[in-house]
Amino acid sequence: AKAEGRGRWCFFEPEMDARMRERRLLELDLRRALVVGEFELHYQPIVAVASRRVSGLEALLRWRHPERGLVPPDAFIPLAEEIGLIVPLGEWVLAQACRDAAGWLGTPKVAVNLSPVQFASRGLVDAVATALELSGLDPARLELEITETVMLQDTQATLATLHRLKALGVRIAMDDFGTGYSSLSYLQRFPFDKVKIDRSFTSGLEQSPRSNAIVGAVTDLCLGLDMTITAEGVETEEQLQELRRKGCGEAQGYLFSKPQPAAEIPMLLARLAAE
Ligand code: C2E
Ligand code: CA
Ligand code: CA
Ligand code: CA
Repeated sequence: AKAEGRGRWCFFEPEMDARMRERRLLELDLRRALVVGEFELHYQPIVAVASRRVSGLEALLRWRHPERGLVPPDAFIPLAEEIGLIVPLGEWVLAQACRDAAGWLGTPKVAVNLSPVQFASRGLVDAVATALELSGLDPARLELEITETVMLQDTQATLATLHRLKALGVRIAMDDFGTGYSSLSYLQRFPFDKVKIDRSFTSGLEQSPRSNAIVGAVTDLCLGLDMTITAEGVETEEQLQELRRKGCGEAQGYLFSKPQPAAEIPMLLARLAAE
């Protein structure tokens, strides 16, 4: 029995070890990547439903790994949040997105995702102000996307931060609306300029009467509250037409374009303007 017990122990231990080691390696690799500059931003257009004109571009983080290739954010942001690296990484994203957007003359807004960890960090408002100053970007062209997780944290602190950000002249969007712990009171209490309705609702627009009704209701709600509404993950012309019928303001998704490297954006904007 003793041997068996030891055997079982030995069965679990190397596995745990391997996972910890892998995590530790990824951590070191992430820190290294930030220093040597392996991160890059791709951009996906946000389109006005009625005119089909590009009203903004969302910055989406990628890791250009020397061996693993292009790594998507879901593969490293959770760990970056855990080890606090998301704060300097997020500052880099802010600075780079503002710099890119300032170079695209005539281009509308640029949207930047903020991690809840980054949002709660001390230096956030200063980092936004610095990114704006150094790039010379008009603050009205910067939009910050936050998720409902932010609202679950200390409400007073969150509200204070949102007001300081708004005082800089930037816009605030609530991301992934309808997933998480959506509460209508968030829309009442927090000064959002925009609500982004999650892809899970958009993709059900045609087949699911429930998703369809939810998108309609959220659109009406946002119109009544004088907020812009953006439908995420629009992939078909039928979805776009249904959004138009509902009076949804903006759409984003593969129907228009997948996220593209920054260098491709001037050409992408020209192509979309010509369509
Ligand atoms: P998100 O903010 O909800 O971004 C939308 C995600 O949906 C992106 O995935 C985008 O590529 C994908 N998408 C857009 N249109 C379509 C479509 O029509 N169909 C489908 N199937 N997918 C579509 P991505 O780039 O992998 O980003 C995943 C998440 O990672 C983002 O979700 C965001 O939460 C996070 N993220 C990305 N960049 C950053 C960043 O700079 N900072 C932070 N904190 N988070 C980021
Ligand atoms: Ca987003
Ligand atoms: Ca989203
Ligand atoms: Ca999401």
